Amino acid sequence: MKNEIDISENPIISQMSTMGHDQILFCSDNETGLKAIIAIHDTTLGPALGGTRMWVYNNELEALHDVLRLSRGMTYKNAISNLALGGGKAVIIGDSKTMKSEALFRRFGKFVDSLAGNYITAEDVGISPSDMVWVSKETKHVVGLPGKSGDPSPVTAFGTYMGMKACSKLQYGTDSLEGKKILVQGVGHVGEYLVEYLSKEGAEIFISDIHEDTISRISGTYGATQIDLNDVYDIEMDIYAPCALGGTLNDDTISRLKCGIVAGAANNQLKDENIHGKALLEKDILYAPDFAVNAGGVINCFSEVEGLSSEWALKKAEDIYHTIFDIVKRSKDENIPSHIIAMQMAQEKIDKAHHS
Ligand code: NAD
Repeated sequence: MKNEIDISENPIISQMSTMGHDQILFCSDNETGLKAIIAIHDTTLGPALGGTRMWVYNNELEALHDVLRLSRGMTYKNAISNLALGGGKAVIIGDSKTMKSEALFRRFGKFVDSLAGNYITAEDVGISPSDMVWVSKETKHVVGLPGKSGDPSPVTAFGTYMGMKACSKLQYGTDSLEGKKILVQGVGHVGEYLVEYLSKEGAEIFISDIHEDTISRISGTYGATQIDLNDVYDIEMDIYAPCALGGTLNDDTISRLKCGIVAGAANNQLKDENIHGKALLEKDILYAPDFAVNAGGVINCFSEVEGLSSEWALKKAEDIYHTIFDIVKRSKDENIPSHIIAMQMAQEKIDKAHHS
């Protein structure tokens, strides 16, 4: 009998093999309208932890691409942060404003539970703590619940601040940020806590945000100068801290940037990883790789998984200073973009664990 399915020709499994994924779970439930994909990239260092994103994708392939890329990113983030965690991520395909229901999230929770702890979920874009409460009715493999480790933003901001200081030490010979001109783009959850740290240290702070009321409140509280959205990439500054959207490091902005350091919490800052890390290196701009510098959030989640205190999470986030210093130093010495160095360092930790 002819074998109708040739696994070697299956593009999904080939893609998994190219990117190094362990497992993908496709989830569908007609009753609740749930369509989701859970991707486990690597569990060498521990169970795969990564949030669930709810998003309107143009098609299922786009959702698959997103979950494969994000779950691999979590492996690197967790490994570079020396956490006993692997990398995973989930996406729910749908509109977070209109499609949410308890039944949908409980069904999703059952799928998470079927992975028996190999994947631990949390919040991501489009998901709130109350959605996770529904998920938690069906599985214990969920973190970020109300009353537990709480909002990760303060820890993310603290880690970003530490990473910024490490870059300053290498670029300017001092880790003091006093008097440094620092632009924080996006003063939301993370950005505001970051501004607070910078203000305590006596930095000269510039801020930009799309929300007028947020801008005026924060500039009033911390004495920060407001910068027009269109001028962000043209002002002279020491440090640019992207804390809003991804993709802000691109052909247009890098040619305009006049700073020595980029260190901020936003995810996926490099528009094209193959081009823009190198472009920053060529301009002698030190770049703190986003997934390493913003790891405070996942450190906070890990503290919940392990039942550790918020003091432990802050102390652990302090290590981001040394992690970022090692990365940017190696990047400078070896003339290799810092995000590539960070991925290599993460992979070295995974390989070492494989062989021990
Ligand atoms: P948030 O939504 O609370 O804040 C984002 C802020 O950016 C908002 O004030 C928004 O008005 C502003 N903004 C949006 N578009 C802008 C633009 N074009 N120019 C200037 N400002 C703009 O989000 P957050 O939780 O503070 O997260 C910020 C970034 O850090 C995101 O990329 C997020 O993925 C990443 N991150 C957050 C955490 C965390 O712990 N919250 C952890 C890791 C990574």
